[in-house]
Amino acid sequence: MKLVLRGHDERYTVEQSLMNLFPGELPVYGPAAPGEDGAVVTCREAGDFLTASAEITRGGRTVSRNYETALSGPDFDREGQRRHAVGACFYLAALELLDAPPPWGMLTGVRPDKPAAWAVMAGKTAEEAQRMLEQTYFVSPSRAALAAETGGTAAEAARGLEPRDIAVYIGIPFCPTRCAYCSFVSQSVEKSFSLMAPYVDALVDEIRTGGEMVRRQGLRVRALYMGGGTPTTLTAEQLNRVLAAFAESFDAAACSEITVEAGRPDTITAEKLAVLKACGVTRVSVNPQTMEDRVLRAIGRNHTARDIARAMDLTAQYGFSHVNMDLIAGLPEDSPEGFCRSLDACLAYGTDNVTVHTLALKKGSRILTEGLTIPPPEAVAEMLDYAGPALRAAGHRPYYLYRQKYMSGSFENIGWCRPGAECLYNIYIMSELCSVLSFGAGGSTKMVEPGTNHIERAFNVKYPKEYTERPEKHLGNQRLFAAFYEKLFPA
Ligand code: SF4
Repeated sequence: MKLVLRGHDERYTVEQSLMNLFPGELPVYGPAAPGEDGAVVTCREAGDFLTASAEITRGGRTVSRNYETALSGPDFDREGQRRHAVGACFYLAALELLDAPPPWGMLTGVRPDKPAAWAVMAGKTAEEAQRMLEQTYFVSPSRAALAAETGGTAAEAARGLEPRDIAVYIGIPFCPTRCAYCSFVSQSVEKSFSLMAPYVDALVDEIRTGGEMVRRQGLRVRALYMGGGTPTTLTAEQLNRVLAAFAESFDAAACSEITVEAGRPDTITAEKLAVLKACGVTRVSVNPQTMEDRVLRAIGRNHTARDIARAMDLTAQYGFSHVNMDLIAGLPEDSPEGFCRSLDACLAYGTDNVTVHTLALKKGSRILTEGLTIPPPEAVAEMLDYAGPALRAAGHRPYYLYRQKYMSGSFENIGWCRPGAECLYNIYIMSELCSVLSFGAGGSTKMVEPGTNHIERAFNVKYPKEYTERPEKHLGNQRLFAAFYEKLFPA
């Protein structure tokens, strides 16, 4: 769509709104020819008063809408108010051209419950937070209620954190095969078996130097999350080495949870589960994504629903405090009936954590490159409409949520659990409540200044081979992490 901005340069806001409201449209700057699709977004300021207006032409129809607001506070606040006005006028005009309002209104980001969490932290009630989302960001009542609920959980988790508390992430970028919906930089084991041993060596080194740095800075690790990829692709001995390196390098006394993604049932063995249990793992995540064999085949998984049942039975024998199961709504070959059967099957295990994702169409995934057929957004809506009440009836509550780009029907991913079974790491990272120190290839370290929106990031190299060959990159990131805390808490 052709875009013209007048009186401002809020390109990011306009582009995100465009892609959120008209999926598939790409921004092209310049005036539209008569009858061509395009948008003109204008800001006019008079003293402390701002009028933002959007005129959008699409499919031969043209709609204009204004959004007026007062500007106040320091420059940083005014920039935010300007951005909001630009996004709001674009949203209001686009709404007239859409078949139905998007569930998350004008919110385009990954963390739509963050405004609610901040509102609750500032002393607002859940009802006030919900109203604010509906009125300020045009979020639908059902999604605003959801965000107020998860935002309240985030506010509670924030109260339990001290300024020097952090979380740790360990990434294992290997999987047995590549799922059709995945664009993650994971290497399938057949292709990368030879990389696993040197990868674990380099990872253990990184964890040890990271532990020393964290001790020097007087930081406290509250949660460890080992994800990927599929961590249980490692052998039992390799898993033991990585978890032992963590236990030896960090003061584990304050770390109340250790989660390991045992995502693919075909990688779960009694020996590996025994290692996880012995290393103090409190939560494992067995991720079927679906319990329908034909859907499992369509997404390129090398196992059946029976293998998932076997993995769940085996996992139950080790008595982990919490077990999570992930499902995805909207997978190729799935239907609302199939999804409901999958969810019912997960609930039948009595698992205390269920994460319901909505399919996100990722560049480079086989769904896009091979043009696999996926259920339409209305079918995905039906799946999610079933999931919420079924999970609540089983005693679960939504405790964190996030969105990704290009999600089917513009919905969301929601972590559900029974009260008291929340994975704190998920809340910390999604609500950006504390720093996350990441180890491993593809790791993204976040440095969060407590109680503010100030966040810095440092990225490890993406690929396992490069990771083992260039330790200077992740060691440099650890120095950045240390410098961040030295500035925050000068000696
Ligand atoms: S298990 Fe996860 S990371 Fe691995 S290929 Fe499948 S979606 Fe990607």
